[in-house]
Amino acid sequence: MRVLICGGGVIGAAIAYFLSRRGVEAVVIERTGLACAASGKSGGFLALDWCDGTPLAPLARRSFALHDELARTVDDAWGYRRLTTYGGFAEAAGAAPAARRDGDVAWLSADVQVTRRLGSAQTTAQVDPGAFTAALMRAAEAHGATLRRGQVTGLLRGAQAARVDGVMVDDAPVPGDAVVIALGPWSILATQWLTLPAVFGLKGHSLVFETGAQVPAQALFLDLQEADGTALAPELFPRADGTTYVCAISSEAPLPLDPAAVAPDAGAIERLEAICGRLSPVLGQAPIRARQACYRPVTRDGLPLIGRVPGIANAYVATGHSVWGILNAPATGEAMADLITTGAAVAVDLRPFDPARLRPFDPARLRLGER
Ligand SMILES: Cc1cc2nc3c(=O)[nH]c(=O)nc-3n(C[C@H](O)[C@H](O)[C@H](O)COP(=O)(O)OP(=O)(O)OC[C@H]3O[C@@H](n4cnc5c(N)ncnc54)[C@H](O)[C@@H]3O)c2cc1C
Repeated sequence: MRVLICGGGVIGAAIAYFLSRRGVEAVVIERTGLACAASGKSGGFLALDWCDGTPLAPLARRSFALHDELARTVDDAWGYRRLTTYGGFAEAAGAAPAARRDGDVAWLSADVQVTRRLGSAQTTAQVDPGAFTAALMRAAEAHGATLRRGQVTGLLRGAQAARVDGVMVDDAPVPGDAVVIALGPWSILATQWLTLPAVFGLKGHSLVFETGAQVPAQALFLDLQEADGTALAPELFPRADGTTYVCAISSEAPLPLDPAAVAPDAGAIERLEAICGRLSPVLGQAPIRARQACYRPVTRDGLPLIGRVPGIANAYVATGHSVWGILNAPATGEAMADLITTGAAVAVDLRPFDPARLRPFDPARLRLGER
């Protein structure tokens, strides 16, 4: 059996990994570069129980366990580690001296108040998401999967209306026994070829600092007000490789058709650099390795689309993971591999994520940045 997976983000790589472990030939088709989009530019923060009370809880809990298992069983490294997670806020610059603070957070400026612990090493962890995606793909390749560079431009349709015969890559046919749409926010393109709900892209900006060993293993979720009153919620993730990732500043800038054309909004990076300098003198002085933007895939009800495409026996979709795509990639990959090979997911009930729950998107309304 040959499964064509459209999109080389963390979701496509995870599906390829779990399919290849079941002896299925998986082909990942990626237009620009493995993990070139959100899967290489996101925070990589993982939480066991932050989705509790929502339909995502079983997927998140299974994924958190699988992240740990993968880190122990796959012979590769992607900066997986458990960490303590704190919440707090940044006072207006120059406000009263900070109250007594845990010595661990001494790398933050005096304006930052750490007010609560949000997670422990039992409940929160992190990965370098680009390294994780690459390692999953390498492990899949070791079990027979392939990564193919090319732009998915359509589907290969045969005589049977209720089946697909493969995909068109750069307008040439590539046959396969099953097709998975895992194009992140670009999954909206598949509404031209299949009956699927809308997937939108929400843009976020981030910086990666070279902080060395000066910053302890702790994640921070802060609230902050800019001088003009704008409320922001920067997230700070020091990583095992001596870098610190910071993201904030969302925007509704339209998604470009070409993933390589994604770039930060004018002024957003300068704004983020100023915020980081205010949050920590360490960040204010550290060299910056990356100034970047990416789009997270979101659906109308905030839940991912994971399952069979309505009306087509051998077409599947796995996207719309929003802010939890790195966390939820392993259980998504595992469930998709089960669904494709046996007809049903075992570890997680996929019914809340059934693509048929949402009304289909009308492709005539499709507007991308440079279409
Ligand atoms: C700022 C930010 C911070 C985040 N932090 C976290 C976090 O801490 N923890 C967490 O769990 N999640 C986080 N997320 C969410 C997470 O990054 C995403 O949910 C996840 O990366 C989505 O993965 P994906 O594989 O679905 O999509 P993508 O990573 O977008 O991959 C889609 C791929 O499809 C390719 N593609 C597009 N068009 C075509 C085509 N026509 N043919 C072939 N290939 C094509 C693209 O090049 C791309 O590589 C964050 C997101 C953002 C934006």
